[in-house]
Amino acid sequence: MKKPFDNYEIWWVTGAQLLYGGDAVVQVDKHSKEMVAGLNDSGNIPIQIVYKGTANSSKEVEAVMKAANNDDKCVGIITWMHTFSPAKMWIHGLQQLNKPLLHFHTQYNEKIPWSTMDMDFMNLNQSAHGDREFGHICARMRLRRKVVVGYWKDKKIQEKIAVWARVSAAWADSQDMLILRFGDQMNNVAVTDGDKVAAEQVLGYHVDYMPFSDLLPYFYDVKDADVDALVAEYFKEYAHDKSLEDKSTVEYKKVWNSAKAELTLRAVLKAKGAKGFTTNFDDLGDVDVEKTGHGFDQIPGLASQRLMAEGYGFGAEGDWKSAALYRTVWFMTQGLPKGCSFLEDYTLHFDGKRSAILQAHMLEICPLIAAEKPRLEVHHLGIGIRKTPTARLVFTSKEGKGVTATVVDMGNRFRLIVNDVDCIKPQPLPKLPVASALWIPAPDFETGAAAWILAGGTHHSCFSYDITPEYWEDYAEIAGIEMLHINERTTIESFKRELRINEIYYMLNKALT
Ligand code: MN
Repeated sequence: MKKPFDNYEIWWVTGAQLLYGGDAVVQVDKHSKEMVAGLNDSGNIPIQIVYKGTANSSKEVEAVMKAANNDDKCVGIITWMHTFSPAKMWIHGLQQLNKPLLHFHTQYNEKIPWSTMDMDFMNLNQSAHGDREFGHICARMRLRRKVVVGYWKDKKIQEKIAVWARVSAAWADSQDMLILRFGDQMNNVAVTDGDKVAAEQVLGYHVDYMPFSDLLPYFYDVKDADVDALVAEYFKEYAHDKSLEDKSTVEYKKVWNSAKAELTLRAVLKAKGAKGFTTNFDDLGDVDVEKTGHGFDQIPGLASQRLMAEGYGFGAEGDWKSAALYRTVWFMTQGLPKGCSFLEDYTLHFDGKRSAILQAHMLEICPLIAAEKPRLEVHHLGIGIRKTPTARLVFTSKEGKGVTATVVDMGNRFRLIVNDVDCIKPQPLPKLPVASALWIPAPDFETGAAAWILAGGTHHSCFSYDITPEYWEDYAEIAGIEMLHINERTTIESFKRELRINEIYYMLNKALT
């Protein structure tokens, strides 16, 4: 079976030099092959690492960096200095490299061979100082990179490489990402909007408006038989009241309409090659849709839930930044067990140390985070231009720790805000039939929410149980954007200091580059 990252490769280049003669290079090559094979065989790194040989001169470095740039499969490059490798020879190549870089400070042998070590061994195994020379030129060139230090057979170290590999693949995925906006940003909302030109320059993705009238032909093209089949699939997949299957009811018709909306959206996204979309609950086609049939009878909530689970980015109310970020979260966590979703800060629950925030939305929460089998239900929804019942998946999320993130446009830069959160068990919500989660933000509700608000964070965010803050650290490094991480160590005093320092840093950084 095809695995999630089969289309991608990580390249490995070992730094050396010819000073020690041909035999030494042969040894370096042999060790490198063994290490790369070992990493691939470990099962801990989801993307194939491809050994690209030793680099012993400026020409060789430049050649491999150019090749990496031009190979779509290559999402990043790992460098490691087996011997000393004079770093001036890396300058021209590194100047051209436009793929993520990981500098691995490791060593072929784990322990010092005390009783046998001689000068030949010393000349061959020089990572301790070779990697410092390489590190210097990266620092001097102000290169963005991840430095991983540790023994290459250590599982914890392999997992750090895995995180970076996943993020690098998601970065590659976002470089040709198209987000379709069905309708504009909702009325006057600031935080979900931003500079789409800057987003394309800095984050790589393209955001296009698609008027509802352009969507309608896809809607008309959907075949009734396909809708029937999809409805049958819903009934097989989700818990539901048996009465929902009664074709004579309004409820059945609403499920059917939701299925038609899903088929319409998937067809548009496929035809346009889009990886994500936004909706707008005031922009759903003909105002008189119940009579004319030209449009969706309600926001495509169930469709959004299911398309998110399939990997399409989604942002409600025109939130294209969340749509893109959700796609990235989904992409980098492929194959991991616990799931991710677009969420919104809905309602506060004050309860001392257990104070928490209910996360929900009108309808659009991804079922990947569900603790139990989602339940297909039809209920009235009285917001937006349509006041009519619609289908949705209802569930509560798993308990456990996770990380949520958002990107905001600060006017002169993008800011990634990340918060560690702890999902706890909510009480039943019999009168609010939507999917939800309940979490306590780190370090506690008061500090976490205050820091998020001071940073200008959105009410929408992209949450995952499977990722750790290290993912976002790697993402921000690759993208070259600001990251604020609200965690167990955060105090408001230190956080405000960070905000002020970052303001100056990014102002100067912009002036210098
Ligand atoms: Mn919202």
